[in-house]
Amino acid sequence: MSAGARPRKASRGLLAVLALVVVVLGAGFLLGRVSGGLGATQAWLSRVGPDGHGEDVVDVGGRPAALPPLPPRAEPITGPGRPPLAPQRFGPAGSRYTTGTPEVALTFDDGPDPTWTPIVVALLHEYRVKATFCLIGASVAKYPQLVRDIVAEGHTLCNHSWSHDLKLGQREPDHILADLRRTNRAIQAAAPGARVSYFRQPGGVWTKEVVAAARELGMTALHWQVDPKDWVLPLKRPAEIAAFVDAATRDGSIVLLHDGGGDRGGTAMALRTILPTLLARFHLAALPPGVDPPRRFGLDRPEHPGQR
Ligand SMILES: [Zn+2]
Repeated sequence: MSAGARPRKASRGLLAVLALVVVVLGAGFLLGRVSGGLGATQAWLSRVGPDGHGEDVVDVGGRPAALPPLPPRAEPITGPGRPPLAPQRFGPAGSRYTTGTPEVALTFDDGPDPTWTPIVVALLHEYRVKATFCLIGASVAKYPQLVRDIVAEGHTLCNHSWSHDLKLGQREPDHILADLRRTNRAIQAAAPGARVSYFRQPGGVWTKEVVAAARELGMTALHWQVDPKDWVLPLKRPAEIAAFVDAATRDGSIVLLHDGGGDRGGTAMALRTILPTLLARFHLAALPPGVDPPRRFGLDRPEHPGQR
């Protein structure tokens, strides 16, 4: 045996293990895609570790990823009975760009999605993190149970237009209002009594008109500060998504992620890193329901049903 044969053999063994991991993870993705429903969610989560402590848990670097204990939770800064978000003026067209407090808010756009929303909700549940979901009205009408599941977990809701209309902000004010109202009605029909306190313009293509329409309906125009572009093709690796979020997030950041609109397996896997990493650095919280009521903008009009 020549010198160096053993290390080469060892590295070949390591490569074989990594290849096996890739195959197993790929099978998990496929299983999730074809079987659908809660069974698929469990199957997918089992591939990335149902409790985060299994021996089969492998992070994107191929090393075992034991979860650190959760840090002690600080008193919530925002939420019911707490002061509203501090005003800030930095978002496009007057939209909100940070939480206005030290809390970091994770937001998930383009759902509900029958494959990926349950996986994201299960991961948030596991890490005891509340987030905000920006919902597409047509998908809400199709998958109302997913909206109820989101609300039951204590997450907050955001209107993301009826059909993800990137040009919504450029349309007539009546058209914009009708689109936002239709979406809110679908959310209310799916989850009666749930507040819809935020609107996010698809693509972030804000105009003064669409911000004004959101305000008229009692919703805060919700932009973001941290965008890892987890939806852009070719899809980023989970490690890239997680590293970007870790590097860019500051106190008060609103982080944009996606639980719909395509294959969000990379985002879901990145959450395995993002959630413990951010929890160790920040207090994570859903943007609170019922903030920035219409009167805040000098408007004297009834709150829309989602504000009650
Ligand atoms: Zn979107």
